Amino acid sequence: MAVYSKKITLHTKERIEFVKITDLVREAVKESGVQDGIVLVNSMHVTASVFINDNDGGLIKDFKDWLEKLAPKKFNYHHHSTGEDNGYAHLWRTIIGREVVVSVQNFELELGTWEEIFYGEFDGQRNKKVLIKVIGE
Ligand code: ZN
Repeated sequence: MAVYSKKITLHTKERIEFVKITDLVREAVKESGVQDGIVLVNSMHVTASVFINDNDGGLIKDFKDWLEKLAPKKFNYHHHSTGEDNGYAHLWRTIIGREVVVSVQNFELELGTWEEIFYGEFDGQRNKKVLIKVIGE
């Protein structure tokens, strides 16, 4: 059994940004040499997510609007008593989730037709890490 780990660093221009990372994950799977197994992809930060959905600009806007309704950016969160201003970002991360796991078959990601892997940044403009771990044979 092979285990391959890789950490990638993302630095978004915007504080809130959705970045398609499918090709970066695909590249890590190729590097791993794993033919049959699984790949874990997770954000290593409490204000960013990794998730799978459709690569549609309208849908990305819908995600932002929906998250803003659930947990508005401008709100007096208890978390801000620590001097931080990113209470919403922690909540968004929890709503969207920390990681995805995808099957690897014949050295390729086994994704559905419209499935793409995204990094959801909710408090960016600084270096953040994503862990990619491929396990299999
Ligand atoms: Zn915080």
